[in-house]
Amino acid sequence: MNVIEIAKELIRFDTSGPPTQEQPCAEWIRDFLEDSGFRTTLQVVEPGRANVVGKIGESTEPGLVLSGHIDVVLAGDPDLWKVSGPFDPVIKDEHLFGRGACDMKGPDACMLKVAQDFAKEDFKKQLTLVFTAGEDTGGWFVNNVLNDELVTPAEAQYCVIGEPSLMEIIPIHKGSGAADIMIHGRAAHSSKPELGINANQKAADFLYELRELQEELDKERHPLLGSTTVECTLMEGGFKVNIIPDQAKLTINYRLIPSHKNPEVSKRWFTSIIEKLSKNDPDFRADLTRHSVSPPLDVPLDSEIVTTLKDILGTEPVGAPYYTEAVSYSSAGIPAVICGPGSIDQAHTPDEYISLKQLGLGYKTYKELVKRTCL
Ligand SMILES: [Zn+2]
Repeated sequence: MNVIEIAKELIRFDTSGPPTQEQPCAEWIRDFLEDSGFRTTLQVVEPGRANVVGKIGESTEPGLVLSGHIDVVLAGDPDLWKVSGPFDPVIKDEHLFGRGACDMKGPDACMLKVAQDFAKEDFKKQLTLVFTAGEDTGGWFVNNVLNDELVTPAEAQYCVIGEPSLMEIIPIHKGSGAADIMIHGRAAHSSKPELGINANQKAADFLYELRELQEELDKERHPLLGSTTVECTLMEGGFKVNIIPDQAKLTINYRLIPSHKNPEVSKRWFTSIIEKLSKNDPDFRADLTRHSVSPPLDVPLDSEIVTTLKDILGTEPVGAPYYTEAVSYSSAGIPAVICGPGSIDQAHTPDEYISLKQLGLGYKTYKELVKRTCL
């Protein structure tokens, strides 16, 4: 089978969701890897849902992980699929169409083909392939692979994730987080506003300060990611047209550059605004009721995996705005870089496709990478 035939086989499994059933596809991958001589583990994480891990070569030095997910987002309205059915892949005009063609069964197929090509070789360092369930459809089961130590830093020095990046090298992306600010006022009839404290109006004061905060944050620009952004994305306040609202809730979503990854940093931004406003206005009362941070991806640009990929592709690394499994690998001690064929612009759309040219480049790049790092 060539890369395209493997990709078509993977696309024919409906692994869309939620609810998602990845196991039949995971079993097919397991059989493919076993037939190629890999040692495999099928990790069932929920009924009908499974990760698969395959390894070849044994070494005292840690090797390489190639990783992808096997779930895909829902196909949506079938009438919007004009070129092919979502699970009935076709080639047209040098492109492969079908759900997951680019995100990311096409990239998965490139990895599987490379695994098969090299299976008879003598590996100096271990090559590990990981295919996960629940990346796009809920579950984030890559954590089960890492928590159960199906892959460890002792076996793998680096990981490459084949999320569609048009084969751009992405060692770095922003972290993200969310905070809730509860603003307390005092209810009163709206004909007597002086008897109440309008929580919505106080929320406006907070939002004004948030804009000032953004101006401050804009002064610190990361060379690949730009600045941290803070945006109020949800607001709730009031319950009746003629009542002064006694409560308002603001939800803030932030996208963090690496220097802001310590949760205390973003927490401090919001508590400082509350302190400042309360000091200037005795009627301003607010609490930070929720605060979370998921760390950014921040693999050093001079690390071996980045320099090797740079050398193979002849391009410079870039940053990405989206969040990936790379953070889970990196947090577990296996620095992970995103580099995969296909464009994220075609992910999650009807008539999802990947160009055969990108598939070819993905396959060629992974082959060279495995040759240089494991053989
Ligand atoms: Zn994806």
